[in-house]
Amino acid sequence: MKKKIVILPGDGIGKEVTTEGKKVLEKIAELFDHQFVFDTASIGHDAIEATGQPLPEETLTKLKNCDAILFGAVGHPKYDNDPTLKVRPEQGLLKMRKELGLYANLRPIKLFDELLEASSIKPEILKGSDILFFRELTGDVYFGDKGRKDEGKTAYDLMIYQKYEVERIAHKAFQAARTRKKKVTSVDKANVLESSRLWREVVNEVSKQYPDVTLEHQFVDAAAMKLIQSPRSFDVVVTGNLFGDILTDEASQIAGSMGMLASASVGDQVGLYEPIHGSAHDITGKGIANPLASILSAALLLDISFGLKEESEAVIRAVEQTLKAGYRTTDIADSKTRKENILNTTQMGTNVIGQIEKVVNKQMVKQ
Ligand code: NAD
Repeated sequence: MKKKIVILPGDGIGKEVTTEGKKVLEKIAELFDHQFVFDTASIGHDAIEATGQPLPEETLTKLKNCDAILFGAVGHPKYDNDPTLKVRPEQGLLKMRKELGLYANLRPIKLFDELLEASSIKPEILKGSDILFFRELTGDVYFGDKGRKDEGKTAYDLMIYQKYEVERIAHKAFQAARTRKKKVTSVDKANVLESSRLWREVVNEVSKQYPDVTLEHQFVDAAAMKLIQSPRSFDVVVTGNLFGDILTDEASQIAGSMGMLASASVGDQVGLYEPIHGSAHDITGKGIANPLASILSAALLLDISFGLKEESEAVIRAVEQTLKAGYRTTDIADSKTRKENILNTTQMGTNVIGQIEKVVNKQMVKQ
């Protein structure tokens, strides 16, 4: 298979982790005889420094003309500490999602058994949790009208949804549920928000086309509580942009660390794959970032954009084997981790690549 992949490292640890994600894709291409052609583009703070724009035209053109994108993260302390700066890294991210029509963000939350002890939640509550989030990505307060009035003393961000925006993501969630445990939980705040009442109406309407899938509704405050209390009760969760932003970070604790969670943003064109974490200023340049979320994002890319299930499984198995062998980056290490098994970013990537070779060779012997 011949495919064009753009690597979009972004800022901070984005660069460090996508280096490892790319190496994994190169290894898969070599072992399975695919031709992946790579290109690199800039976004975020780096792009602002170079061009004055968080998403330069050149980047957008490359993104619109490739088969898949492996993205790192954007963000720089300069902007976090000064909200008055008008040109900001995250504008690049929001514009990219809009321009590429990436309206659905998929976040699989599945705990590797080896990390049961690393989570802040009790193992007996966590074991067996397997949730697939669908977060709407191009509507809601992030894209509604925003501004200030009364000489800057009043600020507003309009929470807005249109019927078609809810419909298309609801369909994606129900379709995914059909391949899983056939349950969809729709999360909203329909007791107080009009946009949530529209959300609920539309999800109910769409659900009629999927009579084999059970639908339940939860208010976002209750869902936040149940995610920690009984994570196994969820299968597919579908929710808006703001609620999804918060709930998926909360759910990252189920997986033990932000450094473990991958995500896919899809629409009607090219797919974008990225870790759920940000640019992590506190550990940038130290070489200790966990690259597994980027590596698992590469696995999602192979599966969703290219339909390469066997290749994707090989990457996931390799991550599992690496963890089984006791290797950890600092963020997922615990008191039982042996000192010599704590790896830096590059060592973790190299270890996974070694495991991919083993996993694939074993499969070949079996055949
Ligand atoms: P963050 O996700 O960058 O980091 C939160 C905490 O998790 C930090 O302590 C960090 O060290 C740790 N962490 C995150 N990823 C890790 C990894 N791979 N390995 C080990 N530890 C990891 O969130 P933040 O600190 O709130 O934000 C930092 C910057 O990232 C900000 O500028 C923010 O705007 C940006 N951000 C960008 C995105 C994105 O590009 N999609 C998402 C979230 C935050």
